[in-house]
Amino acid sequence: MKAAVIHEFGSADVLKIEDAPQPRPDSGEVLVNVHAVRVGGLLDIGTRAGRNPFARLTFPHILGADFAGEVVEVGQGVAGLEPGDRVAVSPFVTCGRCPACLTGRDYGCPSAQLIGVHRQGSYAEQVSVPEKVVRRIPSTLSYEQAAALALSGPVALTQLSVAGLRDGDWVLVTAAASGLGLVTAQVAKSMGARVIATSRKDWKREILRGHGFAAVLDTDDGSFVDQVRDITGGDGVAIAIDDISSAAMFPKVCAVLGRLGVIVSSGAQVAEAVPLDLRALYLKSQSVIGIRTHTQAALDGFWTLAQNRMETLVDRTFTLDEVGDAHRYVEAEKNFGRVVLTF
Ligand SMILES: [Zn+2]
Repeated sequence: MKAAVIHEFGSADVLKIEDAPQPRPDSGEVLVNVHAVRVGGLLDIGTRAGRNPFARLTFPHILGADFAGEVVEVGQGVAGLEPGDRVAVSPFVTCGRCPACLTGRDYGCPSAQLIGVHRQGSYAEQVSVPEKVVRRIPSTLSYEQAAALALSGPVALTQLSVAGLRDGDWVLVTAAASGLGLVTAQVAKSMGARVIATSRKDWKREILRGHGFAAVLDTDDGSFVDQVRDITGGDGVAIAIDDISSAAMFPKVCAVLGRLGVIVSSGAQVAEAVPLDLRALYLKSQSVIGIRTHTQAALDGFWTLAQNRMETLVDRTFTLDEVGDAHRYVEAEKNFGRVVLTF
């Protein structure tokens, strides 16, 4: 079986196309013919570079987390899937037994494993994965689109669900031109939210304006806070999704959060410590919630939602042989939307 394998951490040059052992489905697993894999920042490039704090892997290792493909074989005890099914696979494999998992808050599972990080990944012609992270995809979606949504779609739905999104709510999404940000803004819109999307780059805001959001703003604009207050009739937003953690931007996010408002973070791309005024927080009965990833329930919910209509932006595709170029392209931040390896 052909795969992109790494034998050490390092630059994109450590990715080698090699012949790897053919996987077999264990009990409860399905063997999937891989058609499309998203190339991601932390899980793929961070792991390859040795920067992923969660990575505990042995070489040779196959990267590749969220992906889409076709089921070719099912292991013992698999009842819900069969050969020929078109599926998307989330990389987040929870234990199913801990208090977090048993109470439906499996994004807090302390022993969760990630496909492509803790176990062999999907930069390969075939990979065997637990049935519970595999879902059928709508016939209207291509494998490339499904791979682009396979992780970020359920994460976005979890963010909005845990924050208690109601129809018509104002939702602020910072850095909405990022991979997860754009999907989150689209999922919020498809759930009936009025979305205010932000980007600090002119050309990215120009593209965001074509996506039908209620407003597209620049958080660096001196009047950003006033603009949001005006747009929301003085109430502020009900939910702010901030996966950035910028010390300069976060106070503005807080300033536009309404009473009972919720700030959700499922990432900290800039990773700065941010100031939080607890007095303002309690006076307005607001919350700040961290959500590492998605719930199992959101896997079902997202793919049901995606049956209606889910815009995805696949910026560019590369073949498996071009995996090094794909990594360099994402590392150079040349993409708007998802980058996908195709088979
Ligand atoms: Zn668990």
